[in-house]
Amino acid sequence: MTKVDYSSRGRIAVIAFQSPPVNSLGFALRQGLLAALERAEQDPAIDGVVLTGSNATFSAGADIREFGSTEMLRGPSLPTLNSCLEGMSKPVVAAIEGMALGGGLELALSCHHRVALTSAKVGLPEVKLGLLPGAGGTQRLPRLIGIEGAINVMLAGEPLAVGLFAKSPLFDQVVESDLLGAAAGLAEASAAAVKSGKPLPRARDLRVREPDLQALCQFARNTAKTAFKEYPAPLAIIDAVQFGAEKSFDAGLLEERRLFEQLMNGSVSKALRHVFFAERAASRIDGMPTETKAREIRQVAVIGAGTMGTGIAINFLNAGIPVRLLEVGKEALDRGVARIREVYEGQLKKGKLDAAKLAARMDLLKPVLEYPAIADVDLVIEAVFEEMSVKEKVFRTLDTTIRQGAILATNTSTLDVDRIAAFTARPQDVIGLHFFSPANVMRLLEVVRGAKTSPDVLATAMALSKKIKKTAVVSGVCDGFIGNRMIHRYSAQAMQMVDEGASPEQIDRAVEKFGFAMGPFRMGDLAGNDIGWLIRKRKYADGSLTERQVIADKICELGRFGQKTGAGWYDYKKGDRTAYPSTVVAGVIDEARKAAGRPLRKIDDREIVDRLVFALVNEGARILEEKIAQRASDIDVVYLMGYGFPVWRGGPMHYAESQTLYEVARRMRAFAALPGADTKFWQPAALIEKLASEVRSFNGGAA
Ligand code: NAD
Repeated sequence: MTKVDYSSRGRIAVIAFQSPPVNSLGFALRQGLLAALERAEQDPAIDGVVLTGSNATFSAGADIREFGSTEMLRGPSLPTLNSCLEGMSKPVVAAIEGMALGGGLELALSCHHRVALTSAKVGLPEVKLGLLPGAGGTQRLPRLIGIEGAINVMLAGEPLAVGLFAKSPLFDQVVESDLLGAAAGLAEASAAAVKSGKPLPRARDLRVREPDLQALCQFARNTAKTAFKEYPAPLAIIDAVQFGAEKSFDAGLLEERRLFEQLMNGSVSKALRHVFFAERAASRIDGMPTETKAREIRQVAVIGAGTMGTGIAINFLNAGIPVRLLEVGKEALDRGVARIREVYEGQLKKGKLDAAKLAARMDLLKPVLEYPAIADVDLVIEAVFEEMSVKEKVFRTLDTTIRQGAILATNTSTLDVDRIAAFTARPQDVIGLHFFSPANVMRLLEVVRGAKTSPDVLATAMALSKKIKKTAVVSGVCDGFIGNRMIHRYSAQAMQMVDEGASPEQIDRAVEKFGFAMGPFRMGDLAGNDIGWLIRKRKYADGSLTERQVIADKICELGRFGQKTGAGWYDYKKGDRTAYPSTVVAGVIDEARKAAGRPLRKIDDREIVDRLVFALVNEGARILEEKIAQRASDIDVVYLMGYGFPVWRGGPMHYAESQTLYEVARRMRAFAALPGADTKFWQPAALIEKLASEVRSFNGGAA
């Protein structure tokens, strides 16, 4: 298949991309396009060319699946294609509708003319994958719209309305309709001008007019350094633009290529590309029969109007899905409704919502106190207290009152979803929907597949997550599911290092320098230290946790639950979220260390980071072995979206691979040999040992 459609309109050839859904510029399309251009160039019956998209879009850019592979370089590469296009002796007009993004826009910039529909959008989003526009974008765009504008477009990486550029030479015309007619007319006029001896307009021939080039670029660099700290692409974009503006177009192209390759092989772009694919992969469910049909969800009920219930309800209201909110008593119900209204009023104040929308959303909310009032809904999400006996009561009642065929979901964070399902006579309809707090803000949703959850219930949950703008990751049933099961290991290591001699401040500072949004102790203070304490007490009681976390327990016994009590691992001042080191906590730590009588040692920042991150990785690998997670990249998504893992490091599993699994296993063995170490935990997971010895990666490919 050539991936282009060639036709003519009088003496104008119309070349239409045929690479659905978004005409990405993979090898086959590039090859077909070049052949079509050569045909038009040689055909004496043709005076000019119009390039156009299909499926209502021009082109969304390069084929990202080719990135980093030889396919990307397979001739004609995009830069080569663009040079050929620019060098045509007959005028080429890009007719842009829908999107012209990345390589798609760079292709259009290489045409002699551009016409766009007013509704079209253009942009250079490469920066989002840690790259720069590598097919002439850093050279042609500044020549068409000026240095400052071009840098802004490339650093923003967003699709922008063509109207923003209507007055620049970027577009010859912006039209409401009949795009092809306008483009063909322009091609004819341009061909006539060529015949009368006028040269074809080419972006490369335009002079860059910028009297304060150096100062402007330096200013852009300073801003980029603060805004994009760990990301090298924005600075590389500015460098490439300045280089080409100071030297020449051709020198600029060479510099652009050099910088592009450097970024492509760098760790940040590799991580960002991994994240891009990981997010897409997360919605795929292995082994799901293709004929599985999702159930329709038109009405939702949420049980429990506390912190989570209200946040969960907001997600559905925002998506236009009516919600019935059920509570045990009127007071709690009123409080819940007021909390939801408060969230919307906050958005109204910030100008994120207008009064009409606020009213429409609140109209979709129906507070209720009795189960029969929710009997006919399609989905129930339970968010009551985290106690099995309370959940049991709720699910037994749901089973007898809610219509057959409805999905019964629990938002439990630690309890056994299979046990909860067994309280009903329809375990196939029961699933875990683990939202993260604040549920109306956090994008992550762990979809917990019970042993008996039916495929269509799972498919419904995944489809619904998209409607409420969440990124869903499937987890099997285990204590803590993917995210919290791993974080318990991480927190335990943090505590262990305090026992050994590190301070909470040092530990937080070290992982924050690594890139975590917040260290474990600051995170505990934000989330509430009492949550972990309750879980520990339950585990001490049932014998599943034998080692007492003496310091953490003592902090809670003192009522230091975190920011909400004005004191936790740190001290807080009223109205100020800054964490100040606490002498009380230092005293508690000192006393506990003395009582334990173990020798203290200095722990360096590298050991702190490795022990915390590799604790996540080892548990992650066990989660994979047990098939709790479907794939390593799902674990990365959980950590990037739910736990503040630095995006530019790609998530814990990707990060481990970037260090090589051999090195990770070696470090784990070294940790096992430390005095007082949890040797069983630091035994590298069998999967890590196996992959390290086979030099393979978690996703099955070569490392
Ligand atoms: P919460 O205490 O804020 O709210 C619980 C609400 O449930 C209260 O308003 C209570 O009146 C109501 N309730 C209790 N029994 C009820 C019953 N039988 N029928 C109807 N309503 C009842 O608790 P939360 O933080 O919102 O947690 C709720 C659930 O969400 C728990 O299972 C918890 O583990 C889980 N969860 C919490 C978080 C978090 O960060 N808070 C995160 C993920 C999941």
